[in-house]
Amino acid sequence: MIDLYSMTEEELVALMAELGEPRFRAGQVFSWLSSGTPIAEMTNLSKALREKLSAACTDTLPKVEKKLVSKLDGTVKYLFSLYDGECVESVFMRYKHGNTLCISSQVGCRMGCRFCASTIGGRVRDLLPSELLGQVIAAERDSGERISNIVMMGIGEPLDNYDNVIRFLSLVNKKDGLGIGYRHISLSTCGVVPGIRRLAEEQLPITLSISLHASDDATRSALMPVNNKWPIAELLSACVDYYKKTRRRISFEYTLIAGKNDTEEGARALAALLKNAFRGTDAPLHVNLIRVNAVEETGMKQGSVEGANRFAEILNSLGVVATVRRRLGSDVNAACGQLRRASGGKKNEN
Ligand code: SAH
Repeated sequence: MIDLYSMTEEELVALMAELGEPRFRAGQVFSWLSSGTPIAEMTNLSKALREKLSAACTDTLPKVEKKLVSKLDGTVKYLFSLYDGECVESVFMRYKHGNTLCISSQVGCRMGCRFCASTIGGRVRDLLPSELLGQVIAAERDSGERISNIVMMGIGEPLDNYDNVIRFLSLVNKKDGLGIGYRHISLSTCGVVPGIRRLAEEQLPITLSISLHASDDATRSALMPVNNKWPIAELLSACVDYYKKTRRRISFEYTLIAGKNDTEEGARALAALLKNAFRGTDAPLHVNLIRVNAVEETGMKQGSVEGANRFAEILNSLGVVATVRRRLGSDVNAACGQLRRASGGKKNEN
């Protein structure tokens, strides 16, 4: 079966030719898909064509399995089930600059970060381009609101599902599709260096976020096994090259974990590390601080707001712009992976 939502308009053109249909049908199908319309309801296509498409293609969208709405800020946490019963999470957030959807890139994750709920059961499979796109379309359909920004910060490591992610980015950006500008898309990685280097070559003006979380290799390797493969120096060198190639600002994520990486010396070391790495470039340095979400199985503890503010102050005083991220949806388990885990992963195992 052809996975309709994964197809580019050019591929749809080829499909129409195969089906003996005129070229303009491809555009019609493509734009129906961006509103999540099932084949059977694509009313400007002939019934015969709809039947041919139904016989040859799948048009399943992620299905809302569970939906938690925050009473604090209206953030919506979705648990979506996929064609095979696997589940992933997406989070819909309302900001002044527009609605943002945080999407998952894999079912589970194999990166093993010690503080993260998504990785506890390992990686089950990669998400297809249709399933990456489908989260956005399904959330728009369910909310009745347009999504203008995407962050790839849900379950999974996007650069461990490279080709599908790149295809998704191109699909979601298309003007006659969802038309979400690259500048409104962020991709977060735990530091898969070859992926960062490949991404630099794509020349997409998206925002790259690096989950750094430590300023020395011993601490980072203890928190993030990926650091054993690509230590900090290699990671930052890839970041510098990425900046030089794309001229796009990189944002560094730093999850503060009590007693692990949150000391004042740690803040000074972080500022020195980034300034050293980017010396000689005009890259603005930006760190997003997040107080860790305590996940029962990980034993990682959250520090105080004051501690986080102090950490930010030190960075700012040393010329590294730092903000403490506002936590949306804290009453709906909005940290990635927690809802999927609570539901036992698969739909039919609930
Ligand atoms: N794999 C990618 C994207 C998914 S995780 C990456 O690692 O960047 C999105 C962000 O949430 C990452 O910065 C990740 O380190 C962070 N994160 C994961 N678990 C967390 C937790 N329990 N508390 C706070 N941040 C967490």
